[in-house]
Amino acid sequence: MASMKVAKPLLNVINSFQKLPGIGPKTAQRLAYYLLHVPQTELDSFSSAVARIKLDTKLCAICRNISETDPCPICADTTRDQHTITVIEQPLDIFVFEKTGKYFGLYHVLHGVINPLENIGPDELYIDDLVRRIRGSTVEEVIIATNPTMEGEATSMYVTRLLREASPELSVTRLGMGIPTGAYLEFADESTLIRALEGRRAV
Ligand SMILES: [Zn+2]
Repeated sequence: MASMKVAKPLLNVINSFQKLPGIGPKTAQRLAYYLLHVPQTELDSFSSAVARIKLDTKLCAICRNISETDPCPICADTTRDQHTITVIEQPLDIFVFEKTGKYFGLYHVLHGVINPLENIGPDELYIDDLVRRIRGSTVEEVIIATNPTMEGEATSMYVTRLLREASPELSVTRLGMGIPTGAYLEFADESTLIRALEGRRAV
């Protein structure tokens, strides 16, 4: 596409879409042209939803979940099992666990995995917060539920070592089999995740 021929406002939208993960130039163009057929009121609510997404949310100071409130509704819910924390990569993974209806403990969101190729080290993640949270707490078990990818496994090992040092009596477990190597929890169906949760093993 000769960019000079495309109207500037359209080009701006194409460029914005192209910055999103999984969207190539062709899809970005298609989406931008599609929006021209959408009523203005819908465009307004779409753009204001995008504009407010960071302004109206915050990180829970306890678990680092994204929430409208701090602490988040899960951390604030005293009926949940306060002795179990599941460690996940992304806030989205919380929904996967909540959907099973079989997990009643708390969470801790790392916001990524250790990935040397992308210059993401332990300091870029909320690992220290987790260790601080465990130390001197009543938490009895930490379930490490990072994805079964190379980076997820490496992160799991790193976190396990730090937790062991911080609290030798703590039980650290890893999700059991069922989720294929290289897969992501967010795509696992509920029964697979329930099996993985029930089949968790000490690490
Ligand atoms: Zn929270």
